[in-house]
Amino acid sequence: MIKKEVIGTHEGKEIYQYTLDNSNGLSAEILNYGGIIKSLTFCGIDMVFGMDSFDDYLNNGDYFGVIVGRNSNRIVGAKFELGDKTYTIPDNDNGNNLHSGPDGFDKKIWDCSICDDVEPSLILSYTSPDGEQGFPSEVKVKVTYTLTADNSLKIHYEGTSDSDTLLNMTNHSYFNLNGHDSGSIHNHTLWLRSSFYTPNAKTNAPYGEVLSVSNTPFDFRKAHKLTEALNSTHAQILLCSGLDHNLVLDGFGYRLAAKLVGDKSGVSMEMYTDAPGVQLYSGNFVNKEKLAYKDGVIYSSQCSLCMETQAFPNFTQNSHFPSGILKKGEKYDTTTTYKFYK
Ligand code: BGC
Repeated sequence: MIKKEVIGTHEGKEIYQYTLDNSNGLSAEILNYGGIIKSLTFCGIDMVFGMDSFDDYLNNGDYFGVIVGRNSNRIVGAKFELGDKTYTIPDNDNGNNLHSGPDGFDKKIWDCSICDDVEPSLILSYTSPDGEQGFPSEVKVKVTYTLTADNSLKIHYEGTSDSDTLLNMTNHSYFNLNGHDSGSIHNHTLWLRSSFYTPNAKTNAPYGEVLSVSNTPFDFRKAHKLTEALNSTHAQILLCSGLDHNLVLDGFGYRLAAKLVGDKSGVSMEMYTDAPGVQLYSGNFVNKEKLAYKDGVIYSSQCSLCMETQAFPNFTQNSHFPSGILKKGEKYDTTTTYKFYK
């Protein structure tokens, strides 16, 4: 079941909120602005950070629920080489480019169509012109959100380009499986199929090393509570004030990569993806202003976990990292699914 309502206007266009409901306990409110997932409710628990009104989303510095593009996470120095050219992209993060810049896919009004079926889908499309945010080539992208009958949110990203460029999209939802208003994430349990991680430099971006997770706070191969990692005095955790790291997912192709469990709600979330990496981000910089957001809740750091599937951050400067380059004639096609059960 899908409901559509107007919740504002922006740049002369109407802003819609689509409510998808799979009639089996899972529903989602999604905007045509930034493809934002405003709420994701399972068994009555809204599990993602968000804001009440559309106008609040015009100042969404933490990227709550958005589609990130063209490129996710950081490109150090805010420039990259492709072919025989150097491209300069916006510096919006102390000399680096973060999530493509201040006017990325998260700020665009997407064209939407719906498939109001047993498994409701919202299909968002956007054409990014050549040179947008400094990135080369015209890129056509499509993101399909589906609520499956077995209580998954499936996100299918597709894209083509008229010449070589970068394309590396993700979704930036902040999950708290106890409920978006329930405080600390420390007692959530995480299992992650990952044997390696890419440590960060002071830029908060990987500099090229790929290290074993053994004997580090990044080893979630046996499920355990997040608190151990978040309270760790490991230099990488101190550097980022928590988790804000790319974990290398073991294996290839579409596979079960992670499982997160909320301690109070008993809600489990499995993540399936074909992406090579995931940014585990414990919301360390969230809501520095201490503003009241959705339902009047004041969000804080380490009260949520983002699991942003991606090519590795800063791949443009590390040719041994899986690449986020999309070549002319090739198709970008990647899927990440978050499955919920109790
Ligand atoms: C980054 C963080 C950043 C956050 C919000 C995450 O993907 O890794 O460093 O603060 O997004 O922009």
